[in-house]
Amino acid sequence: MRNQLRLSAETTPWPLTTTGLPSPTPTPTSATKTPSSPTATADEDLAVGGVRLAEIAATYGTPAYVLDEADVRARARAYRSALPEAEIAYAGKAFLCRAMIGWVQSEGLSLDVCSGGELALARHVGFPADRIVLHGNAKTPRDVQDALGYGVGRIVVDSTYEITQLAVAAHAGHPQKVLIRVTPGLDAHTHKAIATGVEDQKFGFSLATGAAADAVRQVLHWQLADRPALELAGLHCHLGSQITSVDIFAEAARRLIALMAWSRDEFNVIVPELDLGGGHAVGYRDGDPDFDLETYARTIRTTIAKACHQHRLPIPKLTVEPGRAIVARAGVTLYRVLTMKRIPGIRTFVAVDGGMSDNPRPALYGSAYTARLIGRTSTAPPEPMTVVGRHCEAGDVIAHDLPLPTDLRPGDLLAVPCTGAYQHSMASTYNQVCRPPVIAVRDGVARVLIRRETLEDLQARDVSL
Ligand SMILES: *Cc1c(COP(=O)(O)O)cnc(C)c1O
Repeated sequence: MRNQLRLSAETTPWPLTTTGLPSPTPTPTSATKTPSSPTATADEDLAVGGVRLAEIAATYGTPAYVLDEADVRARARAYRSALPEAEIAYAGKAFLCRAMIGWVQSEGLSLDVCSGGELALARHVGFPADRIVLHGNAKTPRDVQDALGYGVGRIVVDSTYEITQLAVAAHAGHPQKVLIRVTPGLDAHTHKAIATGVEDQKFGFSLATGAAADAVRQVLHWQLADRPALELAGLHCHLGSQITSVDIFAEAARRLIALMAWSRDEFNVIVPELDLGGGHAVGYRDGDPDFDLETYARTIRTTIAKACHQHRLPIPKLTVEPGRAIVARAGVTLYRVLTMKRIPGIRTFVAVDGGMSDNPRPALYGSAYTARLIGRTSTAPPEPMTVVGRHCEAGDVIAHDLPLPTDLRPGDLLAVPCTGAYQHSMASTYNQVCRPPVIAVRDGVARVLIRRETLEDLQARDVSL
């Protein structure tokens, strides 16, 4: 079985196989090829952003997250060029730190945040308030105060209580722009924990029950008041995550545009913005389907044009909110093998120095990853092995049944690709295990973005005997 890893852009010329055997160099399709794309050959020389992964492990220790800045920037540019008419708002919950916010800002993207904490980080680096969108099904009063205080561009409202509270908190006469989160009743056929377009769930106002239309009515009540407190800037939906179908986004666009037509008919108000959320899939392993951005751009553009023509509406401003698709592929996690266990006739376990605390996705969603040996070249034949973490749970698995060389041994280094999204941001300190550092690489230079957590960090919060 040839299980080729993609540690970075799928177009990078990486001869990566989990077997440790050389493989032919794939032909780059150039379009999204990153400038500093990894140029590794043998396992011991495997590099990202011009820096050898083994060297990063030696310098910074393991486990460690490595992040390829050029890859992040290339993904951001790909979105901008595929959808030049749209606002691209990076969903910060996928991965956020000050440097990342800087990259996103310099590439001309906007920023989605979903808590006062994410907002504070954006504010800390001076990210322009008018390019920030605040989400959340249950925002705290503090989140709302902070957002109003910073003057964030749009707040996505998610419940009738929130609309009233926001209208009261907002400065009458200086209306806060809001988007209404609509549940379009579409099943993106993704994992239940990340399917957010279906009826039965906590997010949004249902289109089918009329709740979405009521929300439009309610927001417009505040917009059309003498001293308006809210302004209906747009309609929003987010169908879930890891979605490969483009058609479902087109159907969502049609349904939201129909609601825009209703708003025009009923209140003579044109809703100016259509936000189709994120959720664009990323292939984690070789052969996993990726999201086709070009097809998406073309399909969404023609769908919106057609639906608006039918309803005699002007074309709304389009916003999309990719998170994973911007940052997942830029990340690689480095682990060191701590121990191995061969259970005859059952399985070989390889235990590494990280696990569900730095990558909870397999345990949460059954996500599949791959891993490969780095730091030395092995010519030993491959054998299926299951890579597990060091935590006290049987479900603490990083990757099942991967072909890894039979001479794999404690002390070896493993690289797990595609770990840039929802790993560091979801990391925990389970078992009092310190969270790994985030090391950015670019043009042959590595630098620490987020330092490794220390036991002092952990113990600092434990303030009483
Ligand atoms: C999580 C989220 C996104 C990003 O999802 P990805 O799957 O990372 O693209 C975008 N918009 C909203 C509202 C979200 O909650």
